[in-house]
Amino acid sequence: MRVLVIGAGIAGLSAAHRLHQSGFRVIVLEAGSRVGGRMSSEKVDGYIIDRGAQFLSGSYTAVLPLIEETGLKERLREIHASASAVILGGKLRRMRADNPFAMLAGGLLPFRDWFKSGAFLLRAGAKIRHLPLDDYAAWAAFDDQDAADYLLEEVGAHVLEYLFEPTLEGLYFQAPEGTSKALALWLSGYFIRRGPLLTLTTGLGTLPEALATPLDVRLNIYVENLHITSCAVEACTSEGEIYRADYAVLATPAPIAKRIYPQAPPWAASLLATRYSSTVNLGIATGRNWDGRAALRDVYGILIPRRERKNIAAIALESHKHPTRAPQGELLDVMLAGAAGARLLNAPDAEITEAVLAEAETYFPGLRDEVVFAKHFRWRYAEPRSPVGRSRAIWEYRRKWTPEQRVILAGDYMATPTTDGAAHSGLWAAEQIQKENL
Ligand SMILES: Cc1cc2nc3c(=O)[nH]c(=O)nc-3n(C[C@H](O)[C@H](O)[C@H](O)COP(=O)(O)OP(=O)(O)OC[C@H]3O[C@@H](n4cnc5c(N)ncnc54)[C@H](O)[C@@H]3O)c2cc1C
Repeated sequence: MRVLVIGAGIAGLSAAHRLHQSGFRVIVLEAGSRVGGRMSSEKVDGYIIDRGAQFLSGSYTAVLPLIEETGLKERLREIHASASAVILGGKLRRMRADNPFAMLAGGLLPFRDWFKSGAFLLRAGAKIRHLPLDDYAAWAAFDDQDAADYLLEEVGAHVLEYLFEPTLEGLYFQAPEGTSKALALWLSGYFIRRGPLLTLTTGLGTLPEALATPLDVRLNIYVENLHITSCAVEACTSEGEIYRADYAVLATPAPIAKRIYPQAPPWAASLLATRYSSTVNLGIATGRNWDGRAALRDVYGILIPRRERKNIAAIALESHKHPTRAPQGELLDVMLAGAAGARLLNAPDAEITEAVLAEAETYFPGLRDEVVFAKHFRWRYAEPRSPVGRSRAIWEYRRKWTPEQRVILAGDYMATPTTDGAAHSGLWAAEQIQKENL
């Protein structure tokens, strides 16, 4: 059996890895000049920059076994710093995943809101504790209301604005309005299960690279069209080549998959119409660090709520992720909020850097004079949006897919919007093909 995998992101490579392991002949076609897509890293002057995905969670159930299978376990480390911070009134307010009282003590939540959010997590926990965090289809029962309306009712405006909104923008570059209650509850699942944040010492891109090593991956091959016949699927490339196989795993972001796959069944239409947030991720290397500032000590990530931000949703101190990330000074990883990302996506580097420095100086005084270099990573398709209906649509897709389709969809829009969800979707696709042919 031959299988084509279109797209060498973590979704496509997870599918290819599993199929290759079980004896399928697999060819991976990748449009770019590197593997990993949004899970890739780059070394610049000794600084290791995660271009897209920034960290893993100890609660990940698809990615962590892949790290073990590829022999990377000894590079897996807990993120060095144990605190994060949210800006309120222009000041950093510390939070700690291992200490719920820190939000109260640090002044992020007044007692009434702290109590309300604790009670909410207890109530939510009872309902969602058994649900898998990697499989968004399993959350379909909660996919019936807008997250902003739901959270306003459940926890009130302060918790919405200073906990959920900055988390959604900082991690997914999107607002609670237009996001499903299912995603808000899924996110709460991470708070409740409190897995530690993890990284790979050599960068998160090491995992896709390790997965790709034994595979037949062809780079710089842009698939334009998939054509399904009664006995095969054909992939036509922009160079006019045709690859033929029994099955294809289509693992590109949804808008590209929609173009490539005109014969998609009607019940896949809403998934293929998934919209994405955009962002620009800046790796800013600096000549010195800010470890002397008490407010930043032991802090890995800073989230900036919309009531406080101009353009920036999140800033990470990469040396606090792991000391290997910055050989000297600091490496700041700055992520633009969705609206700013969409606005500045095609702006010149200098304009983006200027917008970022003007705002980041507030939290890192003297930053402008310390910049060694700034690297820009533009993501038009940064994160799939999760409006009401996406979880149910994945559930329906899983139920209706049959081998006669020959094409099976994978990617983070077919799952939770993380590397773990993307890997889960790829492994699920591989499993369907395996089931049919073992
Ligand atoms: C800035 C940022 C920060 C993030 N932070 C985190 C985080 O901290 N933790 C986390 O778990 N997740 C994070 N994510 C999300 C995570 O990176 C993604 O969910 C995941 O990597 C998506 O994997 P994928 O395989 O579905 O898609 P992609 O990685 O986008 O892979 C798709 C691949 O398809 C290729 N392709 C596209 N068109 C074609 C074509 N026509 N022919 C052939 N190939 C094609 C692309 O080049 C790409 O390599 C972040 C994302 C971004 C952008």
